[in-house]
Amino acid sequence: MNAVAGAVLVLNSGSSSLKYQLLHPGSGEVVHGGLIERIGETEVPDHKTALRRVFDEFTARGLDLTDGAGTPEGLVAVGHRVVHGGRSFHSPTVIDDHVLAEIRRLSSLAPLHNPANAQGIEVARELLPRVKQVAVFDTAFFFHLPAAAATYAIDRELAEKHALRRYGFHGTSHEYVSRRAAEFLGRPTSEVNQIVLHLGNGASASAVRGGRAVDTSMGLTPLEGLVMGTRSGDIDPGLVLHLGRSLGMGIDEIDTFLNRRSGLKGIAGENDFRALGALIEQGDEHAKLAYEVYIHRLRRYIGAYLVDLGGADAITFTAGVGENAAHVREDALAGLEGFGIVVDPERNAGRISEPTRISPDDAPVAVLVIPTNEELAIAREAAAL
Ligand code: ADP
Repeated sequence: MNAVAGAVLVLNSGSSSLKYQLLHPGSGEVVHGGLIERIGETEVPDHKTALRRVFDEFTARGLDLTDGAGTPEGLVAVGHRVVHGGRSFHSPTVIDDHVLAEIRRLSSLAPLHNPANAQGIEVARELLPRVKQVAVFDTAFFFHLPAAAATYAIDRELAEKHALRRYGFHGTSHEYVSRRAAEFLGRPTSEVNQIVLHLGNGASASAVRGGRAVDTSMGLTPLEGLVMGTRSGDIDPGLVLHLGRSLGMGIDEIDTFLNRRSGLKGIAGENDFRALGALIEQGDEHAKLAYEVYIHRLRRYIGAYLVDLGGADAITFTAGVGENAAHVREDALAGLEGFGIVVDPERNAGRISEPTRISPDDAPVAVLVIPTNEELAIAREAAAL
């Protein structure tokens, strides 16, 4: 049988990258996938060219994405990761002209991401006109955050008029991982209160009560919250004013400054966690400081969410850093025995690539590592529609 039959193509178009994966939503079996980076800086000038290249690559492997497309004998859907769903989208949505226009309109809230997402959608519709295209929004899981957690303490009328609220991101991952964690514990999702720490290049924390998100660290944009590879996370908003007023920086300059030249990179000149670790081993003081600021912020959110939830059943680590950096897991939770939080050094050692409990079996709080799989989650959502 044709390997494309029943499969979903998942596309994740970043500002300068395109991640793609062809997989079977039921079994999770990945037929083929890859990543095109530095779009715009290399011989791949835009997302259109990138996606054409992906199609050629599939064809070269004997995988014809158009063969039987839109029927059970071919590709059943294309699932697009879309970063910002704004107030318009709170669940996976089949894309038509109106939906695409709305995703574009939301670019003002996510200028780095939504335009790229929209381009990916446009090209995929053009190349695969018979296949259902589904948008899966990064903000959806947090759409129903309690008002107290979603509202900025700013002028209410202005906020309502311009949809200024805390939206949260990485929702697909937080939702997937929190469900998998409950499954792993053998308990219904509705009974588990947990803190999910998605620590990748971008990083976010969430508090999930019985399967529903009640708080999250990212806000109107993915800039708020934890210290990230190149993003500052929380700062005093007064800093922005100061950069403009006293240092004469323009708005776009400040945007680049906070989104691309801050975080670990801003403090230590390095945003990759492995490279940061190597610098720390060489005794680099700035790298050490960057790590300490990162851990300090992370612990602050853990503390806040423990209070939000009135105690957690589980604390779950995921994504590149969360799955691979044992010292981050250890340092984030050090000294919290009084809260029932203990990390077993042997269980915690090294990189973890399958669902694992890293706390002792009898500890009150289950500390888990659950590898995230946004592609699978998106493929399942897309296929389910
Ligand atoms: P994103 O999807 O946000 O780009 P990932 O979830 O892939 O990011 O995470 C990337 C981060 O994970 C990088 O900082 C990288 O250094 C870190 N990482 C990957 N492998 C390891 C490892 N073995 N040890 C420590 N950090 C790691």
